[in-house]
This record gives sequence, C-alpha cells and structure tokens, in this order.
Amino acid sequence: MVCTTVKEGIECLFMSNKGCRFNGGSCHAIVEKCEGCQKVLELPTGNYCQVFPDPAIKWRVGNCNMATHVKASSGNRNGKLNPLKASKRRAH
Ligand code: SF4
Repeated sequence: MVCTTVKEGIECLFMSNKGCRFNGGSCHAIVEKCEGCQKVLELPTGNYCQVFPDPAIKWRVGNCNMATHVKASSGNRNGKLNPLKASKRRAH
C-alpha cells in the first residue's frame, strides 16, 4: 500500500489499512553513516532510506550492504589475502 506516514505517496510493504505495521509505526530516519548514499530519500518529513525502514540496523554490524557510497563490505580483510590461501600460494 501507499505510505501515509513519513514516506507519503510511496508504495510500501509495511503499509496496511490500519497504518504502518513497521516497528514504531513509521520508518526511522537515516543515520550519519548513510549520508552520501544514493538510496537516501530527502522528504519534507526528513531523510529516509529507500530500501530499509530502519537504517541504523544496517550499520550495527559492519557496513550497510546496500550503501552506494562505501565499498562492498565482504568481511574485514581490507583487501588483504586470506592467510590460508596465502600460505598455500607460498607452498607452490
Ligand atoms: S542503503 Fe544503507 S547506507 Fe544507504 S541510506 Fe539505506 S541504510 Fe543507509
């Protein structure tokens, strides 16, 4: 249904005849780490994420997987080789 709370006019799965079914009754605003992401919607009610109703959760453990302003968050290797693979490589 179409949202009638903070993302007014936008189609949303959480919207129902009884109002927003999301935790708290509406989407939560973006967090500081979302700034710069192309998924941010700037609305008269504030800045919200196009995809997630509670952006803070997406940043609780590592980077948001849908963020457009940060590199892919595949583990915490920082581009370094997996030590196991590296040792195998050395053995050859
Ligand atoms: S996609 Fe992730 S980083 Fe971008 S606005 Fe949404 S929650 Fe924030």
